[in-house]
Amino acid sequence: MEKTQLEYRGEILYSFQIDNNINKYKLYIERVKGLALYDVIIIGGGPAGLTAAIYACRAGWKTLLIERGAFGGQAASTDLIENYPGFPEGISGPELMLNFYNQAVHFGCNFLTAEVNVLQSTNLTGKIKNVETNVGTVQGKTIILATGAQPRELGVKGEKEFRGRGVSYCATCDGFFFRNKKVAVIGGGDAAVKEALFLANIAREVVIIHRRDTFRADKVLGNKALAAPNIKVYWDTVVKEIAGERKISSLILHNVKTLATISEEVEGVFMYVGTQPNTAFLADHNSKNEQGYLLTDENLQLSITGVFAIGDCRRKKTRQVATAVGDGASVLAAVDEYLHSL
Ligand SMILES: Cc1cc2nc3c(=O)[nH]c(=O)nc-3n(C[C@H](O)[C@H](O)[C@H](O)COP(=O)(O)OP(=O)(O)OC[C@H]3O[C@@H](n4cnc5c(N)ncnc54)[C@H](O)[C@@H]3O)c2cc1C
Repeated sequence: MEKTQLEYRGEILYSFQIDNNINKYKLYIERVKGLALYDVIIIGGGPAGLTAAIYACRAGWKTLLIERGAFGGQAASTDLIENYPGFPEGISGPELMLNFYNQAVHFGCNFLTAEVNVLQSTNLTGKIKNVETNVGTVQGKTIILATGAQPRELGVKGEKEFRGRGVSYCATCDGFFFRNKKVAVIGGGDAAVKEALFLANIAREVVIIHRRDTFRADKVLGNKALAAPNIKVYWDTVVKEIAGERKISSLILHNVKTLATISEEVEGVFMYVGTQPNTAFLADHNSKNEQGYLLTDENLQLSITGVFAIGDCRRKKTRQVATAVGDGASVLAAVDEYLHSL
């Protein structure tokens, strides 16, 4: 049995014991200073959550940030971030996120490594909100959901093996590495076509693989792609396999109408078959759209008072580090106002 403690400004609030036999954290009954009630509980330690933590702590609110994995979120999974302002040469994702984390530590944020599996709206409607995690329940006056999103996987052979070594889910981030090379974009929606156009400025040739006979993307984008001299489209076509030895050499493609199977040489594959928000844990369906993105008002608040959503997990147009940071900073105005009104 290991024991670990949760501290707030030198005060021990909780003790945890880790029962390795059942491979599960258990909340120890001991609460040194009574029930720990936080002003702000943030769920998710990516750029949005860490920014909100910096602002909340700096404003003097007692804040807990809950993260189920490594801090930094998706941004920590990319080698180079070139479009986040302030770093003319770019910065590695892990380094940037470590800076965010250290800044939150500097302002006195409390961290808890835990997963929020279910969040019932009945636990959120009162002035004191209960957040159940896999290590026990914590209480807060406001809750900020910052659980992000993840690219949907295509689920074909070779996708996992070449992820980060030719298979990418972010052309803005990784397109640069394919200068003058031939790449494929999988998908036919707005994101796929927009990113294919972006890649056409960098790569020698772009092939779009789309399972239907027309784009789902808006007409203007679609027409631009069709007019581009270095973009070729395979209609009615699905990917069967991403093939190669140490790096990608080709795609095995199957035409769903003619049933023909061909091999197309490419060096990189960009997947745009949709994203998936990490919001399944929230039981309140009124707060989500059909895709599961959280619906917020102009204060970034859900329909539940005192519960906010920021970053990639909410419905919005652009999902980037800069926009996640913007949400994390903006939400504090409404959080402040709400906490002062209690
Ligand atoms: C490979 C890649 C490269 C990218 N490159 C760039 C780039 O160059 N420039 C750019 O601007 N953007 C880039 N992006 C996009 C950018 O990373 C995201 O827009 C940004 O990270 C979103 O931040 P977020 O805090 O909203 O969510 P996330 O970064 O997704 O963080 C959410 C966090 O919440 C945690 N979490 C989720 N559910 C739970 C739960 N139930 N309980 C506890 N914790 C939970 C997750 O573990 C995660 O750490 C890239 C994305 C990827 C995948």
